[in-house]
Amino acid sequence: MPPRHLADLDLAGRRGAVAGLGEKEYRAGQLSTHYFGRLVRDPERMTDIPAAARSRLTAQLLPTLLTPVRELSCDDGRTRKTLWRLHDGSLVESVLMGYPDRVTVCVSSQAGCGMACPFCATGQAGLTRNLSTAEIVDQVVSFAGLAASGALPDCPDRLSRVVFMGMGEPLANYSRVIDAVRRLTEPAPGGLGLSARHVTVSTVGLVPAIHRLAGEDLPVTLALSLHAPDDELRDELVPVNQRWKVAEVLDAAWSYAAGTGRRVSIEYAMIKNVNDQPWRADLLGRLLAGRLAHVNLIPLNPTPGSRWDASPKPVEREFVRRLRAAGVPTTVRDTRGREIDGACGQLAAAAVSRPTGPGRGPGEMASRSERKAAQ
Ligand code: SAH
Repeated sequence: MPPRHLADLDLAGRRGAVAGLGEKEYRAGQLSTHYFGRLVRDPERMTDIPAAARSRLTAQLLPTLLTPVRELSCDDGRTRKTLWRLHDGSLVESVLMGYPDRVTVCVSSQAGCGMACPFCATGQAGLTRNLSTAEIVDQVVSFAGLAASGALPDCPDRLSRVVFMGMGEPLANYSRVIDAVRRLTEPAPGGLGLSARHVTVSTVGLVPAIHRLAGEDLPVTLALSLHAPDDELRDELVPVNQRWKVAEVLDAAWSYAAGTGRRVSIEYAMIKNVNDQPWRADLLGRLLAGRLAHVNLIPLNPTPGSRWDASPKPVEREFVRRLRAAGVPTTVRDTRGREIDGACGQLAAAAVSRPTGPGRGPGEMASRSERKAAQ
């Protein structure tokens, strides 16, 4: 695990840690205000703390957790993707997406992923390790600082949404992800003060963890990566379906919706000739009609060497039409970052297989369309 960081601790824990370093407890609040309130982590700018205390406190409670290895941007700087190296050399990615009315960060919750979905680049590599709470939070705080600096043209300065749709299965790193959500939603100086409704946790469908999440009193938006309405196909596309079947995972989603009043987002990657048939649209429509749910279709972002491709647009349109005819609200995710290896894990995979070197600039990574533009 990485060194301890203030974002691993709640405010009371930070006070205790600061006292343990022989400093006044109120320094914990000052340090937290810099980090969460002002998005500052440079000790030079923390002029309300005496210099000696400042360097001791920042060394002990604000260690560098994420080192940027590669930073890519497109959409006139409104989409930015960073590949980070963690203290042990693991690589994770985060994406920042600016829109006229909101700024969203897509974060990783694990280095790698153990869920083995065959269309996902991260799934191919397996799980390296869980991220710590602070490693998750710091991805958000880094990008919040970038947004606050006015770096995103014609977008708000304030980061407003976080989606756990980067690398990893968030509910397989449950306690750290929940702690991270608490840090993101507590008002400053405890945390970043985002609305829980604007935090989306996306899962393959770990049923017990969905039930547990419903009991947390944290009304985050749940996204369920369904990708097929029938067990036969979902067993292949989302292998955890072999453990918890479509009916069971949807039941868990409906109890989450009932408990929180939050509409569940059903994620469905459109894969040509695999899951995009009209009969599957109709079956999906029957499963979801009348439920507190909407469907988010994601054009497949083919991973390198993949045998699968995105569905053609007319097929996608027919799929949407049938779902809507069944009364199910449906949107197609807008594609962002098409030049920057946007899909889950692609940048990390590219960094491993094509180490940085002369002529390995962002332009060369161009090609894949991306699906990461969550609301
Ligand atoms: N493990 C979580 C969150 C990470 S991935 C989950 O599975 O929900 C976020 C979303 O991106 C998931 O719906 C995932 O299935 C989808 N995804 C992964 N690779 C993709 C690809 N190549 N093209 C389109 N969607 C992809």
